[in-house]
Amino acid sequence: MEGIKAVCLFSGGLDSILAVKVLETQGINVRAVQFISPFFESSRLSNPSSLIEEVAERWQITLDVVDITKEYFPMLKSPPHGYGKNLNPCIDCKILMLRKAGELMKAIGARFIATGEVIGQRPMSQRRDTMRIVERDAGLEGLLLRPLSAKLLPETLPEQEGWVDRDRLFDFSGRSRVRQMALALELNITDYPSPAGGCILTDQTLSKRIKYMLQMQENTRAEDIALCRIGRHFVWPGGSHLIVARNQRENELLKPLAHQGMALLKVKDFPGPLGLLLTEGLPDAVLVKAARIVCRYSKARHEPVVKVQVREIQTERESVVSVSPCWNLEELGCNRI
Ligand code: SF4
Repeated sequence: MEGIKAVCLFSGGLDSILAVKVLETQGINVRAVQFISPFFESSRLSNPSSLIEEVAERWQITLDVVDITKEYFPMLKSPPHGYGKNLNPCIDCKILMLRKAGELMKAIGARFIATGEVIGQRPMSQRRDTMRIVERDAGLEGLLLRPLSAKLLPETLPEQEGWVDRDRLFDFSGRSRVRQMALALELNITDYPSPAGGCILTDQTLSKRIKYMLQMQENTRAEDIALCRIGRHFVWPGGSHLIVARNQRENELLKPLAHQGMALLKVKDFPGPLGLLLTEGLPDAVLVKAARIVCRYSKARHEPVVKVQVREIQTERESVVSVSPCWNLEELGCNRI
């Protein structure tokens, strides 16, 4: 059918590639859109055009890349539909993405939205009832077509209007990917990634760190989320947060992520890791505790007294504290997360 445009949510996984291709075989002019944030596809934040080029080259798909970090942070702090097993607010995440896709739909004169969702494939966001809620709360009732499961779902406007032939859509359900792989073969799609969890909000450890950061550090920035992937993390009930690198590579990664309100700690005269302390006002008591932890991972860990160099990022002031290495976190009143 000439001239009908649609927007398709794109993740780079097989299901979304198939959704685009199934619609294209019906003559729909599909604009794919991929959302990026510090929580998923974060490596693309600095260079979204590389993703656009890659998708065009591998699958001949026209892609828009949209950074939704600004809208994502407030939603993540308090998602109306709650979290999944970890800090993943899948239902509200989908709603947010679909709302944004709806804006794109209007902007480019597209008639409907499609996704590669398959009923029953994911526990939280791809259940039949939640798919309906997502569609409603995104303001897309009747306009959201899931080509891979369409025959198991109520008819949508694109099917009713004959823009899309329902008979040539599918009734996939469940976690098995056998039918998707068969369809890929039929559509001559051989180059696709294997399923992988690309969202750090589903990771148990990273979720704890992100949650702590969002709750305790009011001014958490998108770039700070990268810190959650690095090092060992120690937290105090008042909000102070120490990250200790585990190797030279992490030392190098930590340095550029330090900014105002943080301090870098390094043992003097002995090899040892870099520590990054996030704390309000840098109180001496916290600084000493953090320095004692940094010592325990250095070559000076058996020394009775160790000098630790502290550099406050905001003022660039440097000082030295003398402390004893500490192995007992309880004594320091902190937890490892
Ligand atoms: S896994 Fe992550 S990206 Fe996917 S829907 Fe859930 S929160 Fe969103």
